[in-house]
Amino acid sequence: MNAVRVRRGAIAAASLVASTTLVLGVVAPNSDAAPKTPTAKALTGKTIFLDPGHQGSAAGHDLGKQVPDGRGGTKECQTTGATSVTGKAEHTINWDVAQLVKAALESKGARVVLSRNDDTGWGGCVDERAEAASRSGADVAVSLHADSTSTGADAGKTGFHMIVPTLPIPDKAVDSVQSGEGRKASNTMRDAFKSAGFSPANYAGAVDGIQTRSDIAAVNLTRVPAVFVEMGNLSDPVEAAALASPQGAARYAVAITNGITSYVGGKGASANPTAPVPAPGTDNSNTGVTPSDQKAPADDSASGVDLAGLAAIGPLIDQITKAKSPQEAQRILMTQGQDVTADVLKAILSVVYAVFGGKLPI
Ligand SMILES: [Zn+2]
Repeated sequence: MNAVRVRRGAIAAASLVASTTLVLGVVAPNSDAAPKTPTAKALTGKTIFLDPGHQGSAAGHDLGKQVPDGRGGTKECQTTGATSVTGKAEHTINWDVAQLVKAALESKGARVVLSRNDDTGWGGCVDERAEAASRSGADVAVSLHADSTSTGADAGKTGFHMIVPTLPIPDKAVDSVQSGEGRKASNTMRDAFKSAGFSPANYAGAVDGIQTRSDIAAVNLTRVPAVFVEMGNLSDPVEAAALASPQGAARYAVAITNGITSYVGGKGASANPTAPVPAPGTDNSNTGVTPSDQKAPADDSASGVDLAGLAAIGPLIDQITKAKSPQEAQRILMTQGQDVTADVLKAILSVVYAVFGGKLPI
């Protein structure tokens, strides 16, 4: 992979990995211990549960079946999900982005468990998915959705939001997890979206990219930290087009990957440039900061993702897809791709091509 190896960002990333490995080797207290695996990566040993919302088909299943809602009542087993004003189904958008995130996380050493096996069949009721997330023992469970505010075009209502549960949650164990780590993970994901250049939702009562609701079973029932992402509004034509495109999906995937990596790497607080240092025992969930306070760190060494370069990935993929030869694609990568680390870029590109058709030109 010469094209990747010579890129400036890739060299920096390789240096980082090398120096990390060296430090681990030097400080290892027991020289008789099994040798460190040279392939240990940022997310080695971590499990991530990804839940691409809804399903390809509900054939043979009753969407209206009543299941526990985590609040002492019941709700419908599932819904079909939204449809983009561009015509693309939400379940497919969720699935495509999940595939990109899965590839990126696996390139960083994570074990990824999906809530459904494909985008053609059934994927389980909401309570079953919550149980699967809990049983996976994941460090964090992330549900991926895209919103809809109208059956037709509804331009202007845009932006992402994370849905967090109204507290307290009746199940004390769930309440403890979601009010603490779950909220921290959600805030970290919100910050990752902002750092990637996405705007918090300007609708649905979301405050700084966070919406509080009591009716989301995924967070009411899950016993591992849960993040419920509404990536954008499929009723807004511009946002719908972005979510349906390879370039846009890759940008969302990089942001989500970075949010997950920051959180499970224990970097959520320090990677959050907006959060004041909380006093012990205080809730920093509502910092009330404004977007103008946002500054993307030049590099997040925990994630290995150069946040400042995230904005470049969409145009980069755009250029590569238009390349007329593998040689031209390689040249574009060498000159334009220096802002995204090699592993993540390669993993995402490979899935972009697999998911959206075409052939990987590198
Ligand atoms: Zn949805």
